[in-house]
Amino acid sequence: MAIEMATMELPDTKTIRLKWPEGYEPDFKTGQFIALFWPDSPKYRRAYSLSSSALDRGFFEITVKREGKMGTRIVDWAKPGDTMGVFPPTGKFLPVFEPGKHLICIAGGSGVTPFRGFVREATKRKLDTKITILYSVRTPKEIIFNDKFRKLESANPNFEFHVTCTRLGTDDRWTGRRGRIDAAWVNEQIADLSNTVFYACGPNALVEFSENLVLREMGVPKIQMKTEKWG
Ligand SMILES: Cc1cc2nc3c(=O)[nH]c(=O)nc-3n(C[C@H](O)[C@H](O)[C@H](O)COP(=O)(O)OP(=O)(O)OC[C@H]3O[C@@H](n4cnc5c(N)ncnc54)[C@H](O)[C@@H]3O)c2cc1C
Repeated sequence: MAIEMATMELPDTKTIRLKWPEGYEPDFKTGQFIALFWPDSPKYRRAYSLSSSALDRGFFEITVKREGKMGTRIVDWAKPGDTMGVFPPTGKFLPVFEPGKHLICIAGGSGVTPFRGFVREATKRKLDTKITILYSVRTPKEIIFNDKFRKLESANPNFEFHVTCTRLGTDDRWTGRRGRIDAAWVNEQIADLSNTVFYACGPNALVEFSENLVLREMGVPKIQMKTEKWG
């Protein structure tokens, strides 16, 4: 597929939009991932969660951090007009959009990407599903999609975007929450535990930390949590 658009979200994070070829009408779900490769090295494939939603037709969007070989090549080199090989969307990290559900989405760093897809779909469909993102970054400069999530918050009364910063100096002007995501902060968000579904996505360390917090510390049944580990 051809890259139609490439946008720097942060100095180390880029969104690329891959244009579907004529007549391609894939059946897929928000929250799934695609696998990509460059035509000069078809065996080197890497997975990327869609940051667009299944209601966005005609293109896939992914958001990539400059990390490792593929991440660096995409962030530093991918540009409009380039072609990348794409394996169709797959995966089970899907939003539960049943009436009355509350999705609490725990993210760190680039792991926030699929949640943008969740919120895009819920907002477009005007769903009553509550979505709360709890996002951990080291400093405010690392918040991916800050403006986009703030706009979605204004458009969707059921969506909240909360950020905590873990590595601030005492003189930083950040007035929001500081410190790691903890059980007290997660508990504050819960109105009806039986209708709450927890999500965690990103590098293994963050996902394992979240599983420990939600399943063991808070005692939430495993069936109420979905995770996507990036390695
Ligand atoms: C289902 C799935 C969805 C993914 N979605 C995304 C996405 O939306 N955006 C994205 O940037 N990456 C995503 N990744 C990671 C991506 O597939 C690549 O692993 C990443 O771009 C690094 O490229 P590489 O594997 O060539 O790096 P290598 O040169 O093989 O090095 C990989 C190293 O980087 C670590 N790593 C990989 N990704 C990250 C990251 N984002 N932050 C911190 N450490 C990381 C790995 O643990 C490993 O140590 C996803 C992975 C999976 C399995």
